[in-house]
Amino acid sequence: MKEVHPGIFSIREGGGLSGVVKPPENVYIIAGSDGLIFDAGYGTKKAIKALIKEIGIIKKIYEEKGKQFNLTRVIPSHSHPDHFSGLKLLREKLGLKIVLTKEMAETIKNEDNFSKSFEESSEDYFKIKKKKKKSPDRLGIKIRRKLYRWFYRHGYGVSYIDDPEELIDENSEIVINGDDRWKVFPSPGHAIDHISLYNEKKGILFSGDNILQHITTWLGPPTCNIEDYVKSIETIQNLPNLNLILPAHGIPIENPAERIAEILKHRQERADQVMGLIVNNRNSGITPTEIINELYPNERRFIHGLARGWVCLTLKMFEEKGLIKKTPGKKEYKFLPL
Ligand SMILES: [Zn+2]
Repeated sequence: MKEVHPGIFSIREGGGLSGVVKPPENVYIIAGSDGLIFDAGYGTKKAIKALIKEIGIIKKIYEEKGKQFNLTRVIPSHSHPDHFSGLKLLREKLGLKIVLTKEMAETIKNEDNFSKSFEESSEDYFKIKKKKKKSPDRLGIKIRRKLYRWFYRHGYGVSYIDDPEELIDENSEIVINGDDRWKVFPSPGHAIDHISLYNEKKGILFSGDNILQHITTWLGPPTCNIEDYVKSIETIQNLPNLNLILPAHGIPIENPAERIAEILKHRQERADQVMGLIVNNRNSGITPTEIINELYPNERRFIHGLARGWVCLTLKMFEEKGLIKKTPGKKEYKFLPL
């Protein structure tokens, strides 16, 4: 636990599986008489126990100083399992109200809705579907779904919420401790229902997964969108008085303008690289796998797998803009300039 700003504490939850499949997560406590938890983290018993222990330490510090400490609400940044899984147990153990936007509530209300938010993968966009293989494919999807569900339940401690205490609009305001006003605004791109919290007076933004200090935000189908992502980052860039970003993973960002400019530049460079490769292969076309091999020549297969997400979205974006077209190749589609 660390006090990242007077009255705001960051509790770092341990991840697992080398930190990539299950990344360490920051849960933020805005302390006070009517305090709020931002992002619920993992929902395993172990994670919740550790979280409550840390909250107990903060409470003790407050009480020793004669200050009131009472948490009343919890709100996640978006409906990915490392952010909402802890909601149910936190409500149960701490008597909190669960606050969701209508969009998040729809996704996490049950397993079927949640599954739909990640089932389609880059492969569905890249790979040539063979008609003959119809039934084995369906079996493949079934197995994939089962594996994901098992993993989310046991690895992340996912539990679904069909009865949140409060539904709020994506554009609204949350008042904490009587006079601490936080603007809620949509920031889609990494997830369709992603929101950010901003306190203009303090100059503090809770950025969720959108802006991270050392790593690039994951982007991939089905619910991510690169143009939305860039727009969200530009909205954040224009926030008046922004001086500290508190992200869901990693350390606080004390140079917001610099980091935001870096992210925007990186996205532009990546898009230009993909377009460059397509133009260079204007006669034969180029497949997504070939693009990834060109861009990540020395990386492991796992990194290639992660990269498929943003490459897929970038190709989709170019296609929608009428800049490229796809034609069937051997196993994958090939992309050509228009
Ligand atoms: Zn996420």
